[in-house]
Order: sequence, then C-alpha cells, then structure tokens
Amino acid sequence: MARYFCHEFPETLTAETEVADARPGAVLLARHPFYPGGGGQLPDRGVIRWQGGEVAVAGFESAGGRLWIKLAEPIEVTGTVEAAVDPVFRQMMRELHTDLHIVNALVFQSFDGALVTGAQMNDDGTARIDCDLPGADNDRLRALEPAINDAIRQDLAVSDRYMPLDEAMEVNGLLRSRSVAPPPDADGNVRIVEIAGLDAQACGGTHLASTGGSRRVRILKIENKGRHNRRIRIGFA
Ligand SMILES: [Zn+2]
Repeated sequence: MARYFCHEFPETLTAETEVADARPGAVLLARHPFYPGGGGQLPDRGVIRWQGGEVAVAGFESAGGRLWIKLAEPIEVTGTVEAAVDPVFRQMMRELHTDLHIVNALVFQSFDGALVTGAQMNDDGTARIDCDLPGADNDRLRALEPAINDAIRQDLAVSDRYMPLDEAMEVNGLLRSRSVAPPPDADGNVRIVEIAGLDAQACGGTHLASTGGSRRVRILKIENKGRHNRRIRIGFA
C-alpha cells in the first residue's frame, strides 16, 4: 500500500497544501492527512478549507495510482487549501482499531495461532473481528474481556516499522489475515504495527500511540458465522 502522511505523522490532523488537480466535486491534493479507509477501518471524515469557505469531504477514490478526495458539493476548488481530519472520528477509529489488535493478539495466543478472516470498525463505537476458530468454546472467548482491558490499562506503546514482505512471511503470525493485511508498497515492504510485549502484525491503518488512549471495552456478542468463523463484537464500556 502507499505510505500515507497519516502513517508518518499520525498526530498531525491538519495540513496546508496545494490543489494539484481538480474537477467539480473532487480534488487531488499535493499532500493531505486523511486515511482513505481499508483493512476494516472506515475512511476519515473532514473538511477542505480555503480563504472564505470550506467543504466537507465525502469520500475517497483511487484512480491511476492517485487518490481523489470527493467533496460533498459539486464545486471546483483551486489554489492553497487546508485539509483537516475530523479529530473525534479519527480518535474513535484509532481506539477501535488498536482494541481489535489487542483482541486479535489474545485470540492468536489463546487459540493456537487462529487467523483473522475479517474485521470492521463502525461509526457507532463498535467493531467486530472474525477469526478462524473451528469448534471454539464461545465462553472462553467471552472470558478474554478482562485481559483486553488489562492491556488497555497497561498503556503499552504502539509503534510501526517497515520490512520486506518476503521476510515478514517467514515470521509466524506477522501476516495475521489474508483479508485485512496491506499489500506491499512499491519497494516490496509491508508496514508492521507492534504493541509492545503483546503483538506485531502487518497493518496499514491508524492506531493509538499507546493502548491507554482507548476507553475500556466490552465484548458485546460472540456469533458463529459458518462452521469455522467466530465473530467477536466489541464496543466501548
Ligand atoms: Zn491495524
């Protein structure tokens, strides 16, 4: 996947930039702080501002290796603008995404390397992760809730680094999922997100700087989805 500004500067939610190309209702910026979605994480919300006006971001569209930002109104924007991420929404995504890594790590450790088959964060403060867990006891999954909150309470550092995909494939557990792992960048590297002492896996999303930035969570529901899959739904306590 591309290396985004939001990976390099995760705490910078506004950026002054130039419009590189424009058409009515969409704009291509020289740089921007938005996460365009992917890996189960929803795209950022936000606004594009210029002197005397602003327009809401309506979505993102990849075309020809370029990321167009779709605007909520069919206007054409040019010149110098400020791109600003909705901080409340981003914070919620960072929390839910980091919490899913914690859940995923505990499932991986407690259920003998169980892989992820899907993940989705929602805008209502809930998220789900699907794991390949044939025959798993749902009560044992439910019992992970205190350990999830313990990892949050310990405020473990979250960091990221890049490594060649072929090296990452040699390390057991780094590629946890076929469906949510990011494709390698142009140099053949994948981004590895590490929670100190708990977990490391390939991921292209946005996460907290440390686990203590999350609210406590509850396991809302465990569902059987097919013979193999268990769906674990979490939400803020
Ligand atoms: Zn992630």
